[in-house]
Amino acid sequence: MLVDQYQRQKRKLRISLTDRCNFKCSYCMPDHPTWLSKQDILSFEELYHFCAVMVKLGIHQIRLTGGEPLMRKGVVNFIYSLNQLRAIGLERISMTTNAYYLEKYADELKRAGLDDLNISLDSIQPDTFLKMTQKELAPVLRGIFAAQHAKIPIKLNCVLVQGENDHEVLQLTQWAYQQQIPLRFIEYMPLDQPKQWTRDKVVIEDEIIRILSPHFQIEPLKRSQDPATLYVLNQNFQLGIISTISKPFCQSCDRLRITATGELFTCLFANTGTPIRNLLKSDCEQDLMDRILHAVWHKKAGYIAYQAAPIRKISMHSIGG
Ligand code: SAM
Ligand code: SF4
Repeated sequence: MLVDQYQRQKRKLRISLTDRCNFKCSYCMPDHPTWLSKQDILSFEELYHFCAVMVKLGIHQIRLTGGEPLMRKGVVNFIYSLNQLRAIGLERISMTTNAYYLEKYADELKRAGLDDLNISLDSIQPDTFLKMTQKELAPVLRGIFAAQHAKIPIKLNCVLVQGENDHEVLQLTQWAYQQQIPLRFIEYMPLDQPKQWTRDKVVIEDEIIRILSPHFQIEPLKRSQDPATLYVLNQNFQLGIISTISKPFCQSCDRLRITATGELFTCLFANTGTPIRNLLKSDCEQDLMDRILHAVWHKKAGYIAYQAAPIRKISMHSIGG
C-alpha cells in the first residue's frame, strides 16, 4: 500500500528518536547545537501507535536512529514493545548508533529483541577519530566488542571525507576484514549542519575501489534493494559502498523517515516533511493513514528534484541518516 507514483514500494522506516548526540562529527553536527525540548519530541506511546499503523501499511523493517538513539531514555523498553508488531508483519528491528554507550546496552538490546546494529566508525586511529568526532575511540571499540559478545549482528558505517580520513581507507578495510565485520563506506552528503560540504571532499565509490584493488581480489555483486553497491573481497568479506553522490539509487528507494518531532520525510534530501503528530490519536487512524499515503504517493523521482531548493531546514542529526 505504501507505494509512490513511480511504483516504488516502501518497506523500511527509520525513526529518529532524538536530535541529541554526544558526538560532534565534522560531517554532521553544528558547532553549537540547540536541542529540542522534551515536549517537542514524540512520546514512545505516540511512536508505537505510528509504528503500528506503518506496519499495517506494509513496513517490514524499523531502524532506530538519532541523533544518538542510545541517548533516549526508555529506548530498550520501546524495542521490547515493538516486538508485538511482529505478529502483524514487522520482520526486523535495527539500530544505527555511534556505539559509545553500547558496552552498557548490548546485552539489554539483545534481550529486548534488537535484530542488528549499524555502527558508525570513521577511523581506527585514535587521533583521527578524535578530530572527526570530538570523542575517544576506545569506548566505541569496547561497544563493538560488546555487541559481538552479545551476538548482535553488526555492520560498520564509515563516512569518508577528503582531507580527514580518506588516507585510512585501506587500514580501516583491513581492520574490518580481520575482525570479519562487514563494512560500508558512505559518500559524504551535503546534509551536514556545519555546511562545509563541497564536491571535492567526497571520496567516491570508484576511488575507494581503486585504492583497495591492489590489496584485495574484488568481486562486485549484482545490485539489489540494498542502498549500497556490494562487493566481495577475497571471496570471504562483504564490502558495501553507499554512493549517493556518484551513483544515486533513487529509483529503488524503499525508505521512509520520521523525525523526533513527528515529520514524515519521503526523501533524505527533501527540504520539508509532512507533520503527523496531531493525528497520532486512536480516533484519527484513517486520517493518519490518508495523510501518510498521500505524502508517499507524491514522493519525487529522485534527489536531483530537491537540488534547487533554496534553504533546507533539516540536517542529518535530526533526520537520522
Ligand atoms: N548517531 C548515530 C550514528 O552516528 O550512527 C545515528 C545517527 S547518524 C545521523 C546516522 C548515519 O548518518 C551515520 O552512519 C552517519 O555516519 C551518517 N551521516 C551523518 N552525516 C552524514 C553526511 N553528511 N553524509 C553521509 N552520511 C552521514
Ligand atoms: Fe552524532 Fe551520529 Fe551525527 Fe556523529 S553522525 S554527530 S554520532 S548523529
